[in-house]
Amino acid sequence: MQIAEFLRRRITEDERAASAAASAGVAGWHVAGSPRSDDEGPVEFDPTVYDEIMPSEEEAVHIVRHDPARVLRDVLAKRGIVDRHAPVDGGAGAVSCAWDRTPYPCLDLRDLATTYLDHPDFDDDWKTS
Ligand SMILES: [Zn+2]
Repeated sequence: MQIAEFLRRRITEDERAASAAASAGVAGWHVAGSPRSDDEGPVEFDPTVYDEIMPSEEEAVHIVRHDPARVLRDVLAKRGIVDRHAPVDGGAGAVSCAWDRTPYPCLDLRDLATTYLDHPDFDDDWKTS
């Protein structure tokens, strides 16, 4: 699988998950009350993210920073990057990046793919370090 196809598939997965979360009535996530105890005021987020416990305040802030609206903006930005860094004929049989004219896939695409390095389709040759 080529890196652009890999990235487009992962970006689409991110978009679907964020859209599904947004359509579930989650808009503009925020941290309110104490996420650790039902006895200390309103707890506005009952769903547990992992480990059968409520997230810590730091974890809740992190989760809120990645709400569906932000993920959907990230999807748009990543698609723009993938589109700009398309493969083109680099001459003498080489393939270059259309944006920076370095060998394809360029470092920008490889860095972008690193986000998904835990995916089974990630190619270790894309690692930048
Ligand atoms: Zn590039």
